[in-house]
Amino acid sequence: MILARDLVAPYRGRYHCLLFKPVWLVETARGCPFRCSFCSVWPLYGRSFRERAIDTVASDLQDCGDSVFIVDDLFWNHPERSLALARELRRRNVRKRWILVQSRTDVVARHAALLEAWRPIARDFDIFFGLESPSDRGLEALDKDASLGEIYEAFASERQGDYSTVQTYVRRLEAKGYVERTRGRRLCPGVCTRWQALGRRRRRRDGQAMGRNDRTGIGRPQRTRRGSRRGGVFR
Ligand code: SF4
Repeated sequence: MILARDLVAPYRGRYHCLLFKPVWLVETARGCPFRCSFCSVWPLYGRSFRERAIDTVASDLQDCGDSVFIVDDLFWNHPERSLALARELRRRNVRKRWILVQSRTDVVARHAALLEAWRPIARDFDIFFGLESPSDRGLEALDKDASLGEIYEAFASERQGDYSTVQTYVRRLEAKGYVERTRGRRLCPGVCTRWQALGRRRRRRDGQAMGRNDRTGIGRPQRTRRGSRRGGVFR
């Protein structure tokens, strides 16, 4: 597959994700075999999972820029292939400033070796987790096919591996009649640990508070007298 990345080159400077700009998108596989009730991916692809050849993906990652969002619906779904891809990238000495992948907590909890193999490939490595609910009953109601225990295991693995996470939840499950109220049960103190880490780093550097939420480090960007944002994005 030849990607016509030159077609979007004029707009590249505007592509950003979280704090990183410009960002390149790479897809190594498409689809997901799971069946979460709220998700559009599996009905669209009929629960199939299709993979690009390792050599093609490695070349793609080698050629693209320093900040990469791997947009696979479910990264690391095929552990042997993911290990082979990590090995190939390391053989080619591919190193990135930042990589973001989307995965599941049960996949990460079961395959700590994958985290170890992939971590050296980027200076900062984020995992996007759809946690959905802080209770087994909520997860069951959403057909998540994962447990709260696996969520805790996944977080233990990602912390040990020096990853950061972005997490999403399905809001107001109880209002939709799925589960009883879950207010007060929070798995993590914030939504994006990348923001927390950067908040801590920035406060240390500046010796001052960031903004509205000092506990998590998530705050409004402060403005200088000239009106520009402090901090901004990594380029
Ligand atoms: S694991 Fe993710 S991509 Fe797969 S069905 Fe569930 S929400 Fe969708």
